[in-house]
Amino acid sequence: MPAQIDEKVDILLVDDREDGLIALEAVLGENPGYRLVKATSGRAALSLLDKYDFGLILLDVQMPELDGFETAELIRRQPNYAQVPIVFVTAINKDERYVYRGFEAGAVDYVFKPFDPVILSKKVAVFAELHLKNRRLQLQSRLLAEREAMERKAQIQSVEMENLRRYRNLADAIPHIVLRALPDGDLEYHNHLWTEYTGLSLSESLGMGWQSAICPDQLQSVLSVWYRAMRKRTRYETECKIRRYDGVFRWHWVKAEPELNDRGEVMAWLGTCTDIHDRKTFEDELKEAQQKAESANHAKTQFLANMSHEIRTPLNAIMGFTELLLDPHISDEEKNKSVSIVRRNGHALMKIVDEILDISKVEAGGLELEEVELPLFDMLNEVKTLMNVQAAKKNVTLAFEIGSRVPTLVKTDSTRVRQILLNLIGNAIKFTREGRVALITSFSSRVDEVSHLHFLIQDSGVGIDRIAAERIFQPFSQADTSTTRLFGGTGLGLALARKLARALGGDVRLLNSSPGQGSTFEVTIAVEVPPHTEWIEHSQPEQPTPQQVTDPNRAESLKGKRILLVEDAEDNQFLIKQFLSRTGAILDTASNGREGISKALANDYEVVLMEIQMPLVDGYQATTELRQKGYDKPIIALTAHALNEERERCMQTGCSGHLTKPISRRQLIDSLLEHVSH
Ligand code: ADP
Repeated sequence: MPAQIDEKVDILLVDDREDGLIALEAVLGENPGYRLVKATSGRAALSLLDKYDFGLILLDVQMPELDGFETAELIRRQPNYAQVPIVFVTAINKDERYVYRGFEAGAVDYVFKPFDPVILSKKVAVFAELHLKNRRLQLQSRLLAEREAMERKAQIQSVEMENLRRYRNLADAIPHIVLRALPDGDLEYHNHLWTEYTGLSLSESLGMGWQSAICPDQLQSVLSVWYRAMRKRTRYETECKIRRYDGVFRWHWVKAEPELNDRGEVMAWLGTCTDIHDRKTFEDELKEAQQKAESANHAKTQFLANMSHEIRTPLNAIMGFTELLLDPHISDEEKNKSVSIVRRNGHALMKIVDEILDISKVEAGGLELEEVELPLFDMLNEVKTLMNVQAAKKNVTLAFEIGSRVPTLVKTDSTRVRQILLNLIGNAIKFTREGRVALITSFSSRVDEVSHLHFLIQDSGVGIDRIAAERIFQPFSQADTSTTRLFGGTGLGLALARKLARALGGDVRLLNSSPGQGSTFEVTIAVEVPPHTEWIEHSQPEQPTPQQVTDPNRAESLKGKRILLVEDAEDNQFLIKQFLSRTGAILDTASNGREGISKALANDYEVVLMEIQMPLVDGYQATTELRQKGYDKPIIALTAHALNEERERCMQTGCSGHLTKPISRRQLIDSLLEHVSH
């Protein structure tokens, strides 16, 4: 719209008579400020209204068809002409009623013919001036409105800019990545944390560039969730790994909400990425720990079931055969047989208890190793002798070979090495129905490195499948519960052997195995070779040396010796009495620590056998008190634990010796002989 107004006023002259129009034109035509438009009828006048912006209408009253009043009424109905001044020009009706009607029809004035040209032109000039003023006013108010609208727009824009600035500041201040994407998913904004985290600039991330930061393995699933959310216009939510600037992937919780307009159309997507890596890792670790705990629990339950089976089997035999022994009518032969069964099963029970003690000791980190000079071939012969008994029962041949130049003497913990070998060879024989088990011993030494003994234990037995091979070294784990039930065992042996070997600077590994083909285990032990040690090359181990047995004549040396047994359990009192019955020793008993102290002090015993675990005054306390009172005779502790710490504690309390239950006759006599005066 122009900012200037048209300074000419359109004036409509309506008269059906040409002379009337000419008369008006004659008066007004000379004014350059007017644009005169003529119409010769009411209808013609109405048709012109749209084409001009009339500031004044001079309307003849007497006209055929539509007279002046009717025309005026119709003009007034036009919205643009409701206020336009209409001046009636009339020759006849001057009476008041007639004039009144004219005003009702919308006239603002009357001019009566013949009119005075000066008055007419003055009147017209007033209306024209009024119209121009109106026009100016309209223009001004329009300009004002336009200016206001522009100012408002500028204000809105500045508020929007301010809002945007605040929004970005806010987005930068929050400790999450903030993203905004267009409805089609193209990224259009991200806060500075995104750049800080990913190292990607805005231009690298815009559009679909952000995808390069998503973990490639997860991109497909991230996109498919994203496309689904876009299709359904619903919240987008997922967890995925996003690459950090240094290449490290960290877990994030990604969320985006659609911004909808009034019509429910998506205008944009506003999203956040929250670093949940630590929480997720913690949860994963927790889950893993839980799984581990569950599987450990399961293994323990399994173990308990096996243990129960393993313990009950010998226990059953012991209880059954002892009951048989109580029968006064059984023959000597039956008696001997029953006793040897009870003894054998007692040994089996002891082995189980020893294994459990050992493993718990190793697991608690309380394993103490001794380093002694071990005559390698004596040890191998001893192991072979022991294992031969088992192998012979099963139609399994046992071969011991030397695989390289080997020292005859090494420094290590001989008991533990022996234990490991017995365990692995025991397994090899156990899991071989018939065939061959071989132990190949070799030695390796590299300059500046620790020397190692290597033992290969090969069997032609049932073998182990690949999956079970990973499990068998875990405590309480067996390759297959059902198969192993056939062979027995607790699932502790290999775990223990490995822990022991590792403690000795080596390891136990399953070198190869396949079901039905047999297995080869390797044991390595770090050793030191003492100087001047002899070496042997590829020979067979020596023949077994006969085991030391108690000389029956030696037991005679206990004859007449007075021994005090402090023991609360009657069965054990009875057992020891039986063991000593044929030695001629004189056994006195005390049933608790207190009685033991007074008896020991009151009598002249050669040795005191002191049970450690007793109610009221236990063996430790009794020994301590006796020593404090100056008692200097030997006190041999009897304990139920084979632990080193137990033995040490006994010695510290003042005991002279230590026997672990179950005690064999030979051990008891040997120990007494060691302590009595000869
Ligand atoms: P145990 O023999 O008391 O069950 P181990 O820890 O010694 O416990 O052995 C664990 C498992 O490993 C055994 O139950 C058995 O399934 C498997 N295994 C060990 N040695 C052999 C072997 N030589 N041949 C086949 N399987 C073996």
